[in-house]
Amino acid sequence: MEDTKNVMFRQIPSVDELLVTSGIKSMLSTIPRALILRAIRQILDELREEIRKAPVGDEMPDVGLSTVVDQITRRVSILSQPSLRQVINATGVIVHTNLGRSPVPKRVISAFNSLAGCYSNLEYNLNTGKRGSRYVHVQDILRELTGAEDALVVNNNAAAVLIALDTIAKGKEVVISRGQLVEIGGSFRMPDVMRKSGAKMFEVGTTNKTTIRDYEAAIVSDTALFLKVHMSNFQIVGFAQEVSLEELVGLGRKYSIPVMEDLGSGCLIDLSRYGLKKEPTVQDSVEKGADIITFSGDKMLGGPQCGIILGKKDIISKIKANQLNRALRVDKLTLIALQETLSIYRDEEKAIRQIPTLRMICQSYPSVCRKAERLRGLIGKIDTSNFVISLSDGFSQVGGGALPLEGIKSRLLCLSPRRLSASRIVEFLRSYDPPVVVRLEKNNVLLDLRTIQEKEVKIVAAAIQKMSTKNRLLPKQKSL
Ligand SMILES: *Cc1c(COP(=O)(O)O)cnc(C)c1O
Repeated sequence: MEDTKNVMFRQIPSVDELLVTSGIKSMLSTIPRALILRAIRQILDELREEIRKAPVGDEMPDVGLSTVVDQITRRVSILSQPSLRQVINATGVIVHTNLGRSPVPKRVISAFNSLAGCYSNLEYNLNTGKRGSRYVHVQDILRELTGAEDALVVNNNAAAVLIALDTIAKGKEVVISRGQLVEIGGSFRMPDVMRKSGAKMFEVGTTNKTTIRDYEAAIVSDTALFLKVHMSNFQIVGFAQEVSLEELVGLGRKYSIPVMEDLGSGCLIDLSRYGLKKEPTVQDSVEKGADIITFSGDKMLGGPQCGIILGKKDIISKIKANQLNRALRVDKLTLIALQETLSIYRDEEKAIRQIPTLRMICQSYPSVCRKAERLRGLIGKIDTSNFVISLSDGFSQVGGGALPLEGIKSRLLCLSPRRLSASRIVEFLRSYDPPVVVRLEKNNVLLDLRTIQEKEVKIVAAAIQKMSTKNRLLPKQKSL
């Protein structure tokens, strides 16, 4: 039986044979040879692997010259596409880390247009003609919007926490509640970040209850910091107690120990005014007297990836002088995007309308319903042998660790499988151009209209129409 496999292996065309076929030769005139060779090698490797793995007596793959050339042609076209590309987020998770968190506001894109392709005064003081600081461009507006004494921006919030701990508490003790030793996902675990910074973690309280007396009893001569961490993606309910920021600041003042708050998402707008549960705002934390506050730029703020550090002037100055700052610094594209995003916040109404993340969070249920009706209308009457379409109510998630238990009421398009299985539907939509990423729940495929942009509704409708007319789905595309 092994002989059959050996015969098959020998029948696979060689690279040289393939290179002289008319199909490949015609590609060579327009596509770089290295790319074509990469596609050829991938396909040949996959064929060999398929034969090697095939159970004895099973059907073997077709290794005829024309079939293989077809496969290579398709692979070349896949490999020529940029790897990072647009997808449609139909998951209903607004700040979706795997899908790039926050789409940036239009203003950011026009600022890229006018600024990113030129030189700028990134680190050049136009008044003195001398070297300037890249941080001044967002420092003043951050102070203006939040009331903080000073501000600094680094690569992301993980970096913000790391550099703050390294600066304030290296080799010293940081007191933290056991209920706040969180893992954010993507391997950000508070205890690990603390270890990396060289701070010694001192846990107080229990998983569900921590009191101010626990903090006070933990103070020793080298206690450098009280750290409060936003619980982000989980909640402790029932018999639970946390110490408020005010109380902690009070204790900190009494013993001259600074208080740091890692806010995680960091929202600048009180969303309870828009019918959501109140998340503490950044301004609240500043007002309550936290000495250092950190949060992400691309979660609820709706801007570029970065970590924003606010706080007292003396501490921020020390963080700026930390050598790590050089390694964690943000580039000009980030600063352009952050500068523009922050400037929208000067007008709250505008922020809700122009910052996509906030717009999606605040979009009213009736308005999402209208979008759903529009999608249903555009799809029109379809053949229901592959799947059945209906509209239903459901919940979107803010994501990024904000408001973890609070779904936002939303309207979903539901595809119930018939001839096509749910997983084939998911796969079809994911391989569409642009890919549509959906949610799978109880064997139904759900598309949440809240995270589908107005201009994407048409594309989604076309994808669903196309899928309904498929007699048989294409053979499974090899994942790359
Ligand atoms: C998300 C989050 C982080 C990590 O922020 P990144 O911007 O992803 O680096 C840290 N702390 C908390 C509480 C978070 O929610």
